[in-house]
Amino acid sequence: MRYDLAVTGSGGAAFAAAITARDAGASVVMIERGTVGGTCVNTGCVPSKALLAAAAARHDASGRRFPGIATQAGPVDIAALAGGKDDLVAAMRARKYTDLAADYGWEVIAGTARFTGGPDAPVLQVRRGDGGTTTVEAGHYLVATGAAPQIPPIAGLEQAGYLTSTTAMGLTELPESMLVIGGNAVGLELAQLFARLGTRVTIAEALDRLAPFDEPEVSAAVEDAFDREGIGILTAATVMAVRGDGTARSVTLTTAAGPERELACGQMLVAVGRRPVTAGLRLDAAGVKTGRHGEIITDEYQRTANPRIWAAGDVTGGPQFVYVAAAQGSAAAANTLLGAGRTVDYAALPKVTFTSPAIASAGLTEAELTGQGVACDCRVLPASAVPRAIVARDTRGVVKLVAEAGTGRVRGVHAVADGAGEMITAASYAIRAQMTVTDLAQAWAPYLTMSEGLRLAAQAFTRDVSRLSCCAA
Ligand SMILES: Cc1cc2nc3c(=O)[nH]c(=O)nc-3n(C[C@H](O)[C@H](O)[C@H](O)COP(=O)(O)OP(=O)(O)OC[C@H]3O[C@@H](n4cnc5c(N)ncnc54)[C@H](O)[C@@H]3O)c2cc1C
Repeated sequence: MRYDLAVTGSGGAAFAAAITARDAGASVVMIERGTVGGTCVNTGCVPSKALLAAAAARHDASGRRFPGIATQAGPVDIAALAGGKDDLVAAMRARKYTDLAADYGWEVIAGTARFTGGPDAPVLQVRRGDGGTTTVEAGHYLVATGAAPQIPPIAGLEQAGYLTSTTAMGLTELPESMLVIGGNAVGLELAQLFARLGTRVTIAEALDRLAPFDEPEVSAAVEDAFDREGIGILTAATVMAVRGDGTARSVTLTTAAGPERELACGQMLVAVGRRPVTAGLRLDAAGVKTGRHGEIITDEYQRTANPRIWAAGDVTGGPQFVYVAAAQGSAAAANTLLGAGRTVDYAALPKVTFTSPAIASAGLTEAELTGQGVACDCRVLPASAVPRAIVARDTRGVVKLVAEAGTGRVRGVHAVADGAGEMITAASYAIRAQMTVTDLAQAWAPYLTMSEGLRLAAQAFTRDVSRLSCCAA
């Protein structure tokens, strides 16, 4: 059978494309070599947030935030915790992925796909899990093969062994200590996860601050919060070599602060980014071009250099979020099958790192705006000025508004706060609607929500922070 669309991969990009294609009445086949659902549900978003919620519950129980309330945290049964997370993942995978494929009516082939047939007549050859081979022919092809952890060239790393986010979340024994290499989203989330479960954690970040691609005020707030939780922070750190194995490793590293030093750790977790997965697909033979990091190059419609082959999701090297993957996948299918001419608008893209306090942003940073030659007017509001934070006795963090000088148009919002992830959707809408700081200062914000921080940060453009009030318009 010849299909209208053959999709390689079964993650967010692949599913969104297949659903859009089926809605358009097209025939679809999907090829997956691993577990249906891809990274987000199986080894990414879902398990990490499930474990982080559990670790947060333990952390809250071990503190004394509220007078008159005494709680305590007991030891962690990590095997039970991992088992509960696996059950949750299996249930969400069934409900949001495998059952949907059956409901919408497309075939899923278990196997590894690669292109044959040349640029003018591309065909997929699938090496099935059962050892056989299936040939798949389609009018159009979508490559949605995702990304995998990037492993830095550190002497002795392979011999010593290391964890990635995937294997770390599968541990059934809690490490006594852990060095996390990488202080961006995945490294930060997992560092705090293990620290809150009871592991002694140190983060080594190669750049000069944690969350290095966020605003400096954001990095400072995150470093302060992590430091208070006892998480070790090494910045401008280069890990040069590692020795040992099992549960005892010795790491040689340098930091800007001092000479070469040795650090002992039970486990090492590598979280330095994720690279597009294209090996073995034979993209060259199919006339598909890739970039410097192995990412598939597409135009704004998700079309590759071969007009019958499209690509979407992490494999294209763009922002690594499941909702971006889904938006690209859906656009690719609509463009392929309906000639829709759809593009994905990244201007107000919201991003969240699920630490506590959470890091959330939308739009441009101050440096990005000034880099465009536009003068910036910025305000930074401490979370301690937001009533919600005061009553909840968690005043960690900041809200930063990046506005164009002169027009006051809001171009970026960056926050570290408990609830920042919920606040950022409103910020994204404000940026998209081209609201000004005056619009935001006069907009509704329910009293005693963290979202009120947006309105208060906007009011800080005309009032001193110490004079802000819920009752001032
Ligand atoms: C720890 C972690 C936490 C994350 N948390 C979040 C979060 O909270 N929110 C968020 O939005 N994003 C999060 N992400 C990112 C998100 O998971 C990814 O951006 C998203 O899953 C990418 O989807 P995709 O469809 O591009 O690829 P994937 O979901 O990775 O799917 C690609 C699939 O292709 C298959 N494949 C590869 N090659 C072949 C081949 N040759 N033949 C057949 N099949 C093949 C793979 O087995 C895989 O299943 C997180 C990621 C990680 C690692």
